[in-house]
Amino acid sequence: MADSKKRILIVGGGTAGTTVAASLMRHSGGTQLDVAIIEPSEDHYYQPAFTIVGAGAYKLDKTRRKQQNLIPRGVEWIKGKAASFDPENNSLTLDSGAELNYDYLIVCPGLELNWDKIEGAAALGTRGVCSNYSSEHVEYTWECLQNLKPGAKALFTQAPLPFKCPGAPQKIAYLTADYLRKKNQLEDSEVHFFTAGPAMFAVPFFAKELDKVAAGYGIDVHFQHNLVAIDADNKRATFKVVGGDNEGETVVMDYDMLHFTPYQSPPQAIQSSPLANEGGYVDIDQHSMQHNKYSNVFALGDAGSTPNSKTAAAVRKQSPVVVKNLLAAINGDALEAHYDGYGSCPLTTAYGKVIMAEFTYGGKVTPTFPLDPSKERWINWWIKVTGLPMFYWSYMLRGYEWFFKHNTSYVEPE
Ligand SMILES: Cc1cc2nc3c(=O)[nH]c(=O)nc-3n(C[C@H](O)[C@H](O)[C@H](O)COP(=O)(O)OP(=O)(O)OC[C@H]3O[C@@H](n4cnc5c(N)ncnc54)[C@H](O)[C@@H]3O)c2cc1C
Repeated sequence: MADSKKRILIVGGGTAGTTVAASLMRHSGGTQLDVAIIEPSEDHYYQPAFTIVGAGAYKLDKTRRKQQNLIPRGVEWIKGKAASFDPENNSLTLDSGAELNYDYLIVCPGLELNWDKIEGAAALGTRGVCSNYSSEHVEYTWECLQNLKPGAKALFTQAPLPFKCPGAPQKIAYLTADYLRKKNQLEDSEVHFFTAGPAMFAVPFFAKELDKVAAGYGIDVHFQHNLVAIDADNKRATFKVVGGDNEGETVVMDYDMLHFTPYQSPPQAIQSSPLANEGGYVDIDQHSMQHNKYSNVFALGDAGSTPNSKTAAAVRKQSPVVVKNLLAAINGDALEAHYDGYGSCPLTTAYGKVIMAEFTYGGKVTPTFPLDPSKERWINWWIKVTGLPMFYWSYMLRGYEWFFKHNTSYVEPE
């Protein structure tokens, strides 16, 4: 057992930082901890609901809570940003210039949205240009949907990986198509989905189902197309073809509504630190969540190098692993907890319908409930809109995420 109080700094108080701090306090099992979260924002958003806010099925107010009220009891909130890291000397510097020391460090500052990597992206929030990735402008997506006139053309784009939530860029395309169908406008409208990737989804089991969903709406899917520029005045979007026979070509499309996904990356302070791997992520072991070089550093959430889908669902499974292994490290025990790569993406294929995509490393399908995971279900919509937000605020952010297990025994049909 460790004999003195250990100083633990957590960088980032979003989904991962708040969850892991609450978990540490709840499960420390007598180990003396002095925990602080470094977080600059006053507000904490439940980002997974942005998809349904953009579709007019959820209020933005319900996604936002004051950070102050979420910091777990006994945890100090250091309001600021980590600006640089010196892991050789167990210290970091804040943007204020203050230097902080730690015994153990947990790094979870999420992903940054690099809006300016797409020319003309400053038009966001005006002239039919929208994105559910922006808390400031997510309600404008719903305005754009309502403004679509008969015969309109709506474009949806998916950036190259990494980006938060593998399904988010296409979920809003399905909800838009369903909205148009309900208004009897779908047949004379055009809906296009442009993705930088070569398939609808990285897990073939779900990609197959999503191909059918897109075809059912008559959505034109354009693989390996990257959005590079937006001309909002003339309502034209420019794409670069990034693979296949036409690689290198430029495609220009006019539109009435353009929903786009910004490029995303770990924060600059991480990328330029000794903690980063070549890709700029915090370089951790994909099972133990411990840093590959600095044994007193752990990471989780979107900024970690683990090759899972960047989701809050993944954080739910990573947090207990970080807590168990960090406590083991403090107590000089072996690190036995193991993250299996779990991620989940509730794919909103229509209003009232969701395919619940749950999977682990290697694309293994692992549904929580013993139901065929390829099917669109109303109950999954209820889980997305009501169950998961409730679980997030009342259980996960309070450190109770350990008690929810998922089933890994599903056998995929041949
Ligand atoms: C449109 C959209 C739809 C999504 N849909 C789903 C879904 O259906 N299901 C699902 O599970 N997930 C979904 N997600 C993804 C989910 O929200 C993220 O994966 C999750 O929030 C990651 O947690 P995190 O703590 O790593 O990052 P975040 O929750 O983003 O938190 C990072 C925190 O770090 C802080 N920070 C940044 N830089 C620094 C710094 N230098 N120093 C200190 N603090 C810093 C930030 O202010 C922020 O509060 C969606 C996300 C979006 C945007």
